[in-house]
Amino acid sequence: MSEAVVIATGGFTANVPARMKIDGRLSADIHTSANPYVLLWDGADGDGIRLAQALGGAVTEGFGLQLLPIGGGRVLDYAGADLYVNDEGRRFVNEAAPRRELASAILALPDKRFWVITDQQSRKNATLGPKLLNGIVKKSPDIRSMAREMGIRPDVLERTIADYNRAADAKFDPEFGKSVFTQRISEPPFYWGRERIYVHTTLDGIRTDHQARVLDRSGRPIDGLFAAGETVGGVFGKDRLGGMGLTNCIVMGRMAGGCGRWRKV
Ligand SMILES: Cc1cc2nc3c(=O)[nH]c(=O)nc-3n(C[C@H](O)[C@H](O)[C@H](O)COP(=O)(O)OP(=O)(O)OC[C@H]3O[C@@H](n4cnc5c(N)ncnc54)[C@H](O)[C@@H]3O)c2cc1C
Repeated sequence: MSEAVVIATGGFTANVPARMKIDGRLSADIHTSANPYVLLWDGADGDGIRLAQALGGAVTEGFGLQLLPIGGGRVLDYAGADLYVNDEGRRFVNEAAPRRELASAILALPDKRFWVITDQQSRKNATLGPKLLNGIVKKSPDIRSMAREMGIRPDVLERTIADYNRAADAKFDPEFGKSVFTQRISEPPFYWGRERIYVHTTLDGIRTDHQARVLDRSGRPIDGLFAAGETVGGVFGKDRLGGMGLTNCIVMGRMAGGCGRWRKV
């Protein structure tokens, strides 16, 4: 018989009823950041959490989940060099706002989607090539032709970008209070694409202690049952710093693999 069972089945970002209990806006039309184009099967449905509960394990509540507006037309990994417009060609948010604030503004849009625009000067990430190839990001020689392809009135988009560039020059955005500007959006060609909000990470899950032992509802460890990774709740609190997910997986996975004890490998 095995010494222990370790649950490591990930979070529940793909479980629509479960995530809607946390935030009723997260209906099935909101995809996960792990599967943004729904081309794959997403196994993050919380199986392991239900398994732990069936064995008497407790789950955390109140930490919620994290949303991310990156996965479509955005090709930058930093703030200050792109702008977001709604389907009328108008800005609707401070693009450098914290993710929670961005998510609320995006979820309030009629179709919960928007356009991201940058220009030739910005430093694109490695997704640019594939996104251009499959049409997720497009390239236009001027603002008017970009607007026409988006189905936006060219004069409106021209005005929006002119206002944005005035704010970038002054480093003062009277409309939305943006203060992080690294450039104007003015050098053709312009790069643009559809962006949406995605369910990125769940922050609630199985309750464990610092030794990765699954706890029962009275806070006592369940013998031989461990959990690690995103299936565990409460590790980060109500938000998670970018890049910290795998640190948690490795540290607590190793702890669970050592059955709650550090082992030299
Ligand atoms: C787009 C994206 C980018 C990210 N970038 C970063 C980053 O740069 N740095 C960082 O630290 N973190 C990043 N993360 C977060 C990181 O990927 C997760 O924290 C990590 O993958 C969680 O690992 P896990 O093993 O707990 O769960 P998962 O990686 O979700 O693995 C769980 C596995 O269990 C399988 N499974 C589920 N149910 C069952 C079942 N019943 N039977 C058998 N198998 C099952 C699933 O299919 C899956 O393969 C990113 C996440 C996403 C979505």
